[in-house]
Amino acid sequence: MVRTGRTRAGTRLATALTCVIGLVLAGCTGEQRDGFRPGAADAGDPYVPGRGNGGYDVTHYGLDVRYDPSTDRLTGRAVITAAATQDLSRFNLDLAGLTVNAVRVGDARADHRRDDGELVVTPRDGLPRGQQFTVTVDYAGVPTAVVDGSLGSGGFLHTADGAVALGQPDSAATWFPVNDHPSDKASYDLAVTVPDGLAALSNGVPGPKTSADGWTTWHWSERTPMASYLTTLVIGDYRVVTGTHAGRPMVTAVAASLPPTGGAASSLARTGAIADFLASRFGPYPFDSYGGIVVADDRISYALETQSRPVYGPAFFPGDRPNPSVVAHELAHQWFGDSVSVGRWSDIWLNEGFASYAEWLWEEHDGGRTAQRNFELQYAATDWSQPSVEPGRERMFGTAVYKRGALAVHALRRTVGDDVFFRILRTWTTERAAANATTADLVALAERVAGRQLRPLFDAWLVGGSAPTLP
Ligand SMILES: [Zn+2]
Repeated sequence: MVRTGRTRAGTRLATALTCVIGLVLAGCTGEQRDGFRPGAADAGDPYVPGRGNGGYDVTHYGLDVRYDPSTDRLTGRAVITAAATQDLSRFNLDLAGLTVNAVRVGDARADHRRDDGELVVTPRDGLPRGQQFTVTVDYAGVPTAVVDGSLGSGGFLHTADGAVALGQPDSAATWFPVNDHPSDKASYDLAVTVPDGLAALSNGVPGPKTSADGWTTWHWSERTPMASYLTTLVIGDYRVVTGTHAGRPMVTAVAASLPPTGGAASSLARTGAIADFLASRFGPYPFDSYGGIVVADDRISYALETQSRPVYGPAFFPGDRPNPSVVAHELAHQWFGDSVSVGRWSDIWLNEGFASYAEWLWEEHDGGRTAQRNFELQYAATDWSQPSVEPGRERMFGTAVYKRGALAVHALRRTVGDDVFFRILRTWTTERAAANATTADLVALAERVAGRQLRPLFDAWLVGGSAPTLP
């Protein structure tokens, strides 16, 4: 892992203290019956305190939700399939707001209580390590937004004609109970019921649409494990285009209030071509479907790489001008971030550095500035006091993560040459597909593929305190 010595020592100390505190707490609660103990109440990621949980690993979410825009009320049932990773006496799910009416573990009703953003579930019997189990949660209420999202408003937003659930690093817990951390990826099946005439869009492959009594149920299925922050739900009046690309479903949607043939629509229409270009550089497209959604709500001031179907805020198409760069960025994330995911947010440059670099690759391919020229301009403009790795919670969406990260990627390319560089990228996206990875994993893989030491290079370009020598 590329870190400064001071940070490593700090991490060790923090870990040791947490263990001590954990032991004391476990001893105080008196819940260590026969070695069974509660799962951790968060994932231990300091960038998102309280998010995620421990003691189990989710493999699948089966979600069935109904949303009525006229009352802003959501009713849901979540059937979560998981396996215990310890002898488990109780466990937490993340759930923001909403009222839980019943929880079952397997077929048996389970005790449950709320503790701020946590749903604490105590099954009738302890769950032995390795045991697979299902948790069924019935819930309802008016979902909430996440107001402190670093990237702008997130969570579940009630819009003029429906709703948008979206956000990084967290938003999923505003509309379903979830282990809300990218370290626990899972497959999803979603059935979403909305009034007839509205679209209900989400991730993955579309299933059948069924209507009854004025309501329509849309089905979506994402088979490849997905981090919870990459889920989305978009409900409203949309122009939905369904087709195929490279033998897989392609679903794009543009808010009906935006022009039908303008920049947003034309940019989205290039999704297949841009994905194909990126596949020629990064390796095969990692998912079973393609697409994109442009929303009209100004509170979505960002674009997010929601798995297989990125969501773009209206601000990316000012004056309804085309913006293929943002499409290239979000599609690059399908490899870097969505398929190969961070296990800790301090490694977020692994997502944003490569996605930013993909913008340079696309611009060059599209007849604009070369990647080398973008590199030179960015090099001259960079503040080297800010690190790309472990940027700090407040700077996880900062320039050092995005632009300095892209500089490091191009410096690697200049150092090892094009052949080895693209072999490193394709090996990374293949070996780490549908999994999690760290900066240390990338450095080790690059050194193996290149057959040479590269850690000093990564150190200098990612975290060094002064401008590195140009390669
Ligand atoms: Zn990004």
